[in-house]
Amino acid sequence: MRAVDLIRTKRDGGELASEQIAAFVQAATHGSWPDYQLAAMLMAICIRGMTNRETAAFTHEMTNSGIRINLDELPGPKVDKHSTGGVGDKTSLILAPLAAACGAIVPMMSGRGLGHTGGTLDKLEAIPGFRVNLSIPEFRETLKKIGMAMIGQTADVAPADRKLYALRDVTGTVESLPLITASILSKKLSEGISALILDVKCGRGAMMKTRDTARALAESLVRVSRANGLKVEAVITPMDAPTGRAVGNGVEVVECIETLKGRGPKDLEDLSVLLAARMVRLAGLTETDDEAERKVRSALASGAGLEKFRQLVELQGGDPRAIDDYSLLQPELNRLVVSSPRAGFVSVMDAEKIGIAAGLLGAGRQRAEDKVDPAVGILLELKPGDRVEVGDPVYSVLFRGEEKLPAAIALLNESLVIGDTSFPASPLVLEAIR
Ligand code: URA
Repeated sequence: MRAVDLIRTKRDGGELASEQIAAFVQAATHGSWPDYQLAAMLMAICIRGMTNRETAAFTHEMTNSGIRINLDELPGPKVDKHSTGGVGDKTSLILAPLAAACGAIVPMMSGRGLGHTGGTLDKLEAIPGFRVNLSIPEFRETLKKIGMAMIGQTADVAPADRKLYALRDVTGTVESLPLITASILSKKLSEGISALILDVKCGRGAMMKTRDTARALAESLVRVSRANGLKVEAVITPMDAPTGRAVGNGVEVVECIETLKGRGPKDLEDLSVLLAARMVRLAGLTETDDEAERKVRSALASGAGLEKFRQLVELQGGDPRAIDDYSLLQPELNRLVVSSPRAGFVSVMDAEKIGIAAGLLGAGRQRAEDKVDPAVGILLELKPGDRVEVGDPVYSVLFRGEEKLPAAIALLNESLVIGDTSFPASPLVLEAIR
């Protein structure tokens, strides 16, 4: 099978046979096609798309390019959540312990920050000592002990995705439904789960800016998950403004711990509870969403979720004192306040601009090899819909060096629109795909 013939077939809008897709994925895994042929195929897929059958076969091959963890020895339903990424999107750190406290097994493999969006691994690493690079036997052991573990993708999980993602990043081929679908699901299918809830973000700070594109991605993810044997549901949730009030790494962990203590911002608590409840019901631990929500709320109120999180931190090498002593997560830094230029109602807090500003301060990476600064971040003193007077604090900026500060402040000023009328808070869920 010659690479050039497969590329031509896709370039001309043809449908690839499953063996041809397998040859492409194996070439990416073993390096048997040069990068220019892999990249040409990615561009052909990006422009021509894939049929449902091709996308399902592509996802299956990408998953099988690496190991598939078998967790059958652990009694109980294995369930995970995947979010397509946003700003201040920290629900994983709250919902995973809550779902585990309700009896689910949560083998979570997450990613690092990408572009202006944050990543669960970077947040967890703000906890001193926390190890996200557990070996697979350590991952299993942690799951066995507490019913949850949170790690990064190991080298032998979906290696074809690792190769293709790096090429997509530099060839303008990230934004493609079949490529995104196979990339996300190959990693999730490798975890040994039987059920998955997908949180597809939509809006200014999301990869999908419109309802139509978010719905198309959600439908593609649901269809392919199902074809690969997963119980799955998707919710489309708004990402015009950050979730909660903290954007950064240490500051977001503090906000998650506060939420697990019952003192978190309402939007973050409600979304985390909703997603945890869907996980619990999808895992078959309850019959209905209402029953699942009651179970999750009771794990929150009793402190069982917080206790799970404490056990997770201890078992993964983190310093559990950080759960009560926030100075270990958020050391004293320089602080600057961005104030409102006029009176009215906060109508826009543009999540993308806020995410880029946090990245400039050091919370994200400008280049792949950069290290993130766990301590810097941005706190939202107000939320969209709030009343504001001239000079009221809108953002608190926690920063270390002054070099990128002016650019970050300029973005924060641009992110803010003050209008004349109030409006209700965004709904928690825009649409659900069952
Ligand atoms: N996240 C992934 O893992 N892959 C994509 O293609 C996009 C987001």
